[in-house]
Amino acid sequence: MIHSLTCTFCRKSEHDVRKLVAGPGVYICDACIEAAHRIVSDSLPPRRAPLWRRAVARVGRALTTLATQHPRVDVTAASSGSSL
Ligand SMILES: [Zn+2]
Repeated sequence: MIHSLTCTFCRKSEHDVRKLVAGPGVYICDACIEAAHRIVSDSLPPRRAPLWRRAVARVGRALTTLATQHPRVDVTAASSGSSL
């Protein structure tokens, strides 16, 4: 008998959820991911925001460095967010 996979958090079967994501020995469904994301983003203190802003800035600088070191790589579309 093949037993279906279940969400480790809410115990719903893979057939009762839209998506089931596998981790090391655990599974989490889309609903639990949404709930967890809400909890995490609600509990983040506002002063932590600059942390991800610094990370975004770091990615931007990395793209600029990449463009400098590899002039043939066009990163302008990626950094401006526009598509052709
Ligand atoms: Zn779940």
